[in-house]
Amino acid sequence: MPRNTPPFQKTNDRIGAEPPGGLGFEGTGAAGSSKPAEPSKKPAPGLYLTAVPIGNTGDITLRALEILRTVDAVACEDTRNTGRLLSLYGIRASLVPYHEHNADRMRPALLDRIAGGQSVALVSDAGTPLISDPGYKLVREAKARGLMVTSLPGASAALTALQLSGLPSDRFLFAGFPPSKSAARQGFYRDLAAVPATLIFYESAKRLAASLADAAAALGSREAAVGRELTKLFEEVRNGRLDALAAHYAEAGPPKGEIVLVVAPPGPAPAGGGIDLDAALGEALARMSVRDAAAAVAEATGLPRKEVYRRALELSAGSGRPADDGDG
Ligand code: SAM
Repeated sequence: MPRNTPPFQKTNDRIGAEPPGGLGFEGTGAAGSSKPAEPSKKPAPGLYLTAVPIGNTGDITLRALEILRTVDAVACEDTRNTGRLLSLYGIRASLVPYHEHNADRMRPALLDRIAGGQSVALVSDAGTPLISDPGYKLVREAKARGLMVTSLPGASAALTALQLSGLPSDRFLFAGFPPSKSAARQGFYRDLAAVPATLIFYESAKRLAASLADAAAALGSREAAVGRELTKLFEEVRNGRLDALAAHYAEAGPPKGEIVLVVAPPGPAPAGGGIDLDAALGEALARMSVRDAAAAVAEATGLPRKEVYRRALELSAGSGRPADDGDG
């Protein structure tokens, strides 16, 4: 068994061999190793696409920490942001700015460094590089020059929101940021109306209500979920129909924090994906008053509160349980 083999070694054809950049355990004093920390090995020359957290600083991988600690340079969108993040993990790295305004100028220099035998990590301000963030041209050109490119996967807001949305996750399309102007945004949503998949968008909090209204106009009254501040202290996922969510945020004002919008595919929800209102209410009524059960189920499903309350009363009357409160 190779030294420091982690318990969850990759189960692909490289079993037993170290992937580029090592397995992330050397020098970390990682759990399971009784040996004292050893100096880290220098990674092989190449480009290391390294995910960082989307909010919760615990969401970084052991392998990412090891690479960030040992590469020759870390290319990042904002050296101050990344410097602050790395200092939380006690890492000092040589930071090189790489963002949309300097990418064309910086790319050849970064690729020359790799070709000259250096290791370069690419990170974003948050989450996974290349996902609504710079990097794809760097990867493309590195591959064209025959340089080693590898990925250290981790957090991404799009997948986190999809997981938490309760919407079908078997087929999805990530569409990035909708345009900021309403006319262009409606066209953008209309172009996606026939896509038979769950749709995922990044959106700014200040445009959320208007964007939801445009989505409702272009896509119809579909189920959707707004994921906010994911992995952070005030994480919230609000489910509802697009029009109801638009009305909610128009009235409540822009929410605080970062937003992902997830929209159900067109047409009826796939078999098994629909909401079983009676089952949800039955489960809630076993634990709560009629009023609270109806409120909780309406919140979770996005169904109209009155409709849910009426059904909760019917179920509770059918069970012989006394109606316990007012008109909901
Ligand atoms: N590369 C990142 C990723 O993998 O998720 C996304 C970068 S993109 C420039 C930033 C957008 O991602 C934000 O405007 C927001 O829409 C979304 N986002 C990032 N972190 C988030 C979080 N913790 N909660 C909700 N949305 C988030």
